[in-house]
Parts: sequence; structure tokens; C-alpha cells
Amino acid sequence: MPQSAELQDCVVIGAGVVGLAVARALALAGRDVLLLEAESAIGTRTSARNSEVIHAGIYYPPGSLKARLCVQGKALLYDYCKARGIAHQACGKLIVATHPEQLGGLQAIAARAQANGVHDLVWLDRESAQALEPALACVAALHSPSTGIIDSHALMLSLLADLENAGGVLALNSPLELMDSAGAAIELVAKDGTVLHAKTVINCAGLQAPALAARFAGLAAAHVPQAYFAKGSYFSLAGRAPFSRLIYPVPEPGGLGVHLTLDLGGQARFGPDVQWVDSADDLQVQPARGDAFYAEVRKYWPALPSGALLPAYAGIRPKISGPDAPAADFCIQGPRHHGVPGLVNLFGIESPGLTSCLAIGNYVAELC
Ligand SMILES: Cc1cc2nc3c(=O)[nH]c(=O)nc-3n(C[C@H](O)[C@H](O)[C@H](O)COP(=O)(O)OP(=O)(O)OC[C@H]3O[C@@H](n4cnc5c(N)ncnc54)[C@H](O)[C@@H]3O)c2cc1C
Repeated sequence: MPQSAELQDCVVIGAGVVGLAVARALALAGRDVLLLEAESAIGTRTSARNSEVIHAGIYYPPGSLKARLCVQGKALLYDYCKARGIAHQACGKLIVATHPEQLGGLQAIAARAQANGVHDLVWLDRESAQALEPALACVAALHSPSTGIIDSHALMLSLLADLENAGGVLALNSPLELMDSAGAAIELVAKDGTVLHAKTVINCAGLQAPALAARFAGLAAAHVPQAYFAKGSYFSLAGRAPFSRLIYPVPEPGGLGVHLTLDLGGQARFGPDVQWVDSADDLQVQPARGDAFYAEVRKYWPALPSGALLPAYAGIRPKISGPDAPAADFCIQGPRHHGVPGLVNLFGIESPGLTSCLAIGNYVAELC
């Protein structure tokens, strides 16, 4: 970690996709930015363990940060991918009702999407849905043409290049341990004992953001939410999937249901499921969890062959609401919320954080 007696302008903690986008936005706004990352590379935590889906902004409560930043972020991200040649594909997705009892839920999703400014959803009856995806079983579906997939690692490399071109600096292997107010500045202490002082500090530490904020001596505990970890395991499909769009069931509590996503090479994977765990490092996929996937997937793809699902990888959702509570909104708190000059905390940046990253960057830059 760079040692400096000088006052740093801006320090961003965490080089996942959100920290990179925030650091880039601040650097493009003319700030001097130092981005600290605990690991030896960027984007190795939650940003490397997701579905790489560009979400349309359908599900979130109207007016929430998730809804607003997802819809803005989707448009910014498609434009950015086109401008920078980042691999992506607006492949579209179908949200499927597999039983007549789910039709009300599907209608509610359509209404919520409208309220969020997502006006391109198309209601499909069974025949129209099967004309698009002949292997699909459903009673009706919603087609979202603006849902897509992205090479998230290429995105992160491009964000880093923008940061560095604007004069920003990335410091790897730099885990931050403690923070405190120090007059007009914030004092930062790294694990190796290095001490820095900064005018502005943005906590983008993902799963660790609440724990890091709890170690900020001058921040009232009431402004630090409880962290919860909701693991999502994926199983990949042996062989080719007979689908060219993403297929999602009507959502389940805590997640979006066992859905089918495709990567840019056409490889299909199923998941993530929802398993509440105690540790942010509990990343092993238990093969037995795949057993429950077969029944869920066969509701919309009856021809899924037995033995075709292989354990793939898992990610952990950085939740700030527990299993029995409604999903919390993104929580982005600046000095107006908590009273500590120069500090911005980002908590609960779960899905659609990847889709929203550029919009989150702009939002945070305006707070600083
Ligand atoms: C299973 C799953 C599926 C998802 N699917 C999608 C999807 O399809 N589309 C979508 O839009 N979103 C999706 N998301 C959400 C998306 O992945 C996250 O919102 C996003 O990756 C969060 O990025 P981040 O930078 O906040 O966190 P992270 O990627 O976790 O980055 C935080 C960084 O902070 C570093 N750090 C932590 N503590 C310290 C410290 N003390 N000092 C220095 N550095 C530190 C970590 O090493 C890490 O690199 C999904 C999430 C999960 C879990």
C-alpha cells in the first residue's frame, strides 16, 4: 500500500465492479483517486461470482434505488459496451408462469415493470412463447427484450483503464483495517500498519462493507446495518441448452428462482438458489443441492436429462435484510445521513449491482 504523509483527495475501498465504477466516476469528475483492494487482483469476489446478466429493472419496488439505478445503469451499460467494444448480447429473457396460479404474479411483475419505466415487456401466451423457445413448458410468459448478458471481467478491465487514464491509482494487496475521523480528514489504517489521511472515503467493500464501517470509530452504530449472507449455487448443463434466451420462473423469496442463464459462449447454467450462510467465504457448491434443481427446472424444461447438472460455482449476496424480512434496497449513505464528513458507505449492493454500476458511480460522485 502506498505510504504518504500528504492528504489524499479520495480513497475508494474495494475494487469490485462497483468500487471500480465509483473510482472511475470520481476520477472523471476531476478528483484524485486512490483505489485500495485487499486481494492481489481486481474483481475476484462477488463481482466474479454472478450471472453476468444485464437486468432490465423489472422486479424492484418503484422509486427504490434498485429500480432507478438499474434502469439508468442498463442504458449506460449498453452504450458503454458499444463504445468500448465490451462483449455483450441483448439476448432477451422470458419470465414464465408454469401454472395458472402464477398468472396473477406474472401480471403483477408486468405492472411493476411499467411503474419502473420498463415499457418494452411483451405478454406471450403459451403458443407465442413456444414459438420463440420450442422446448419451453409454460402457460404464459413475459418477454423482456432489453435483458442481456455481458463479459463482466472485460467491463472491469475497461473501468480500470478509464480510472488510470484519468490519473487514478489502484493499489492491490492493500486490505484496510480501521478508519476514524481526524479533524477535516479521515484516517485510514491498513493491515500492514500504513496510515493515510483522505478528504473523501468511499466504502465499496461489498460483503465486508458493514464490518469495515463498524470499525470506523466515529460512526454511530445505528448507521451500520447487520450483514447477512445469502449464498447462491450454480449448476452448469452438460451439453447444449435448447434455449437462446434466458428463462426465469416467477421469483421466489430471497432471489429470482432457479433460472437458466447463458454465457456469451452459449453455455447454460442454472441457479443461483438461496441458502443463508454464516460466512462470506462459504463458497463451495454442495453437489447434493443440485437434486432440488431438477424438479424446479423441469417445471419449465420438462426434457432436462437426468444427470445433466454439474456443480459449477457459488456467489454470496451481500444482504442487509434477513431471511424473513422483505429485500432491502441498496443503502448508499453520505454525510447527510450519518454526519461524518467525507464518508460514503455502500451497503447491500446485491443484484442488480453489476447492471447498475455506472449509475451507482454517478450517484456517488454527486454525493461527494
Ligand atoms: C449469486 C449472485 C448473482 C448475481 N447476479 C447478478 C446479475 O446477473 N446481474 C447483476 O446486475 N448483478 C448480479 N449480482 C450482483 C453483483 O454481482 C454485485 O452487486 C456486484 O458484483 C457487487 O460489486 P461490489 O464491487 O460491490 O462487491 P465485490 O465484487 O465483492 O467487491 C468488493 C471488493 O472489496 C474488497 N475488500 C473487502 N474488504 C476490503 C478491505 N478491508 N480493504 C480493501 N478491500 C476490501 C474485496 O476484496 C472485493 O474485491 C449477483 C450477485 C450474486 C451474489
